[in-house]
Amino acid sequence: MGFPCVTIDLKKIEHNTKQLVKWCSDRQIEVMAVTKGICGLEKVARTFIKGGAKKLGDSRIENIIALKQAGIPVPIYLLRIPMLSEVEDVVRWADGSLNSEVEVIKALSAAAKDFDKEHKVILMVDLGDLREGVLPENVLDTVSEIINLPNIDFEGIGTNLGCYGAVKASYDNMKSLVDLAKEIEKTFGIKVKTVSGGNSSTLMLLKEGVLPKGITQFRLGEGIILGNDPSTSKPLPDTYQDAIVLKTEVIEVKIKPSYPIGEIGLDAFGNKPVFEDKGPMRRAIVALGKQDCRIEGLIPVDKSIDILGASSDHLLLDVTKSNNIKVGSIIEFNLSYGALISLMASKYVKKYII
Ligand SMILES: *Cc1c(COP(=O)(O)O)cnc(C)c1O
Repeated sequence: MGFPCVTIDLKKIEHNTKQLVKWCSDRQIEVMAVTKGICGLEKVARTFIKGGAKKLGDSRIENIIALKQAGIPVPIYLLRIPMLSEVEDVVRWADGSLNSEVEVIKALSAAAKDFDKEHKVILMVDLGDLREGVLPENVLDTVSEIINLPNIDFEGIGTNLGCYGAVKASYDNMKSLVDLAKEIEKTFGIKVKTVSGGNSSTLMLLKEGVLPKGITQFRLGEGIILGNDPSTSKPLPDTYQDAIVLKTEVIEVKIKPSYPIGEIGLDAFGNKPVFEDKGPMRRAIVALGKQDCRIEGLIPVDKSIDILGASSDHLLLDVTKSNNIKVGSIIEFNLSYGALISLMASKYVKKYII
C-alpha cells in the first residue's frame, strides 16, 4: 500500500445505499446516486446500483463518459447545467441533464437531432439557495418553450438547496416544487414524470415524515458515501461514516516549541497566522498537504491527535498524547465531503478499493 491513500469499503457503501434506498422506496421516491464525490469510479458506481440506485448523476461529463464506456447499464444524468461548449458530449453520453437556460436546451435539442437521439431535461427551479435554476415565476414560460423543442423529452423539474445559500430543505420549499409540477401539468396537459426534490440535505425531511407527497426523486451523494446529513453535519441513522478513510504516513516526529521562533510575517498561503504558546509539544508531520486535500475537513480517527495546520505538502499534528507514533506510523482520518472530493481528485492520493 502506498501513502497517502484513501481506502474505499464497498460493503459499507452498499449498506449505506441500501439503507437510504429503503427510506426512499417506502415513500415511492427513486434514488439517483451521485458519483461526483468519488470521481466517477466505476466499482463504486456499480455498488450504488447493487444497493438499489436506479439512476446515476455526475456533475462532470468526463466521469459520465468513463462510466458509459465501462458499460454502466443505468441512465446517467449530468447534474451541473451544461456548458454550451459541451452540449454534443452531453447528448452523446448522458441520458439526461439538469438545466436552467433555454438557450442551452435549444443547443441540446439541435445536437440531439444531429445524433438522432432523445435527451431528457429536468428544469431546475431556484427556491432560494441562489445557485442554479429559474425563479418560480418564470417556470411556466420556460416550460412552454422547452416542450416544443424537437428531440427533447421534458422529464420534470428539480431543485437544489443547501449548497450556496445553505438554505435548508423544508416542507414549504418542497411543497412549492410539488405545486409547480401540478401547475405545469394543468397548464400544458402533460405529465411531469420527475419531481427531483434535492440532495442529501433533504433526507431528514423524509425521515421526520414532513416531506410533502409528490416528490419522486432524491439525488444522493454525501448521504450514501459518508452517511452524513450535510445540513446539520450529523450522521444519518443506521449508516456508516467511515466507508472511505484517509491513511497518511508520518515523516517526522519531534518535540518542538508550540510558538514559532522569530518575527511572524505571512505564511505560505498569504495569511498571518496566530499561535498560542502551549509550551513544548510532541509534533508529527505526515506527508499530505493543502495541494491534496481540504485540511479543514479531516477528523483524526485517534481522538488524542489534534491537527495544528498544513502547508502545501505537510500536515502538522499535535501528538503529545500519543506516545506510540513514530516515523513510518500510519495515521488515519475520517473525512468531510469537502475533504473527500479534494482527495479523490488529487493524482497524488492513491485509491484502494477494499
Ligand atoms: C452534488 C449534487 C447533488 C448531490 O448532493 P449531496 O449533498 O452530495 O447529496 C445533487 N444535485 C446536484 C445538482 C448536485 O450538484
